[in-house]
Amino acid sequence: MPSTPYMKLYIGDYLGDTSHLTTLQHGAYLLLIMAYWQKGGCVRNADAMLRQCTRTTPEEWEACREVVLEFFEEREGFLYHKRIDKELQKRELISNKSKDSAAARWSERNANAMRTQCERNATPIVHSPDNIINNISDDANAMRTHKHEYGAEKNVLLTDGQYSKLLADLGEPMLLACVEELSTAKAMKGYKYKRDDLAIRKWVVDAIKKKGGPLNQEPEKPRYSNDIQPVLCPVCGNNETPNYQKRCRKCGFFLDPSWLNDPGLIAEYADGLKASADA
Ligand SMILES: [Zn+2]
Repeated sequence: MPSTPYMKLYIGDYLGDTSHLTTLQHGAYLLLIMAYWQKGGCVRNADAMLRQCTRTTPEEWEACREVVLEFFEEREGFLYHKRIDKELQKRELISNKSKDSAAARWSERNANAMRTQCERNATPIVHSPDNIINNISDDANAMRTHKHEYGAEKNVLLTDGQYSKLLADLGEPMLLACVEELSTAKAMKGYKYKRDDLAIRKWVVDAIKKKGGPLNQEPEKPRYSNDIQPVLCPVCGNNETPNYQKRCRKCGFFLDPSWLNDPGLIAEYADGLKASADA
């Protein structure tokens, strides 16, 4: 998979780590970093190849080799750069996530468009300004009344408007807990409601409060493997058992100590998600 055309360069960190390099060595190191980024991962530790990446003559490479390769870790003939690997992984997660949501938006929009098209085909349309305005507001109505599926069982149905009102009134941890509670109750007991948002307001909130609030609930038992335990996602607050790749089921954050103990990474991931949601 081709990586994104740009990468972050933390100038302060870079200059701090490389104060002992000559200008030639800087050039070689930066070109090697760029080759790494474009390849999307490790490069082979072979002089001919590294010279090609760094555009150096044998003599120049000889003068760079040792200091530059100190920034990499060699494993089985390949060079790895921890920090860039982390950035690459982050990019990949965020781009998968935005691809998923873009695909979801697309199919939803197409479904709406097709439905509206069928309705239009049923009656001849006169293209007066009034009709055009009516059609636009039909689409807007369809968007407003379209219900999205929430909860582990995907059986809690809420429109965007209902969701955002609940979110404003209850706060995210309470809303997430309510959605899961209702999802389980509907699946287990076969409850049916015309308006799930009203069910949440009418009884689910009280049920969660009786349990001691959204943060005091029993963590779910791991569903897939005994060595994956529930982890509270620091990005979205989800506390389900991570999926088999140790990623958060809601936002895709990698729930591994290497990421969990890195506040900078957590903040950046949250920003990245927000940016791809806004896009
Ligand atoms: Zn998450």
